[in-house]
Amino acid sequence: MIPEFWGNGIAANPDNYLDEDEFDSSYEGLLRLSERIGDAKPKGVPEHVIHTLPTKPYLMSKARSPDERCTICLSEYEHNDWLRDLPCAHDFHKECIDSWFKNSDKCPICRRSILENKEL
Ligand SMILES: [Zn+2]
Ligand SMILES: [Zn+2]
Repeated sequence: MIPEFWGNGIAANPDNYLDEDEFDSSYEGLLRLSERIGDAKPKGVPEHVIHTLPTKPYLMSKARSPDERCTICLSEYEHNDWLRDLPCAHDFHKECIDSWFKNSDKCPICRRSILENKEL
């Protein structure tokens, strides 16, 4: 393809109009969503839901990468630190993620809501 024609090709491509339609509708969807959750801020995770997430002690082992750390407090895990596992397979210090969940229901790393597949 010749680069000079690339811009014209985009403008004339009917697929682009489809993309814009999709964007509009999803943007409206986002607006509606933010209106709906606007009332409920700050959005946290109920304590009894937090307690359904598994906890475990951090055990040093050669199988683990040496620089595993909690992305909330940014300190490296120490042997026997108490961690909490999220459904997305990320883990954090138990105390760190528990207080994080007072203001958010999303994993700090991948932003996936832990309430998605939970019954409240
Ligand atoms: Zn931490
Ligand atoms: Zn995650």
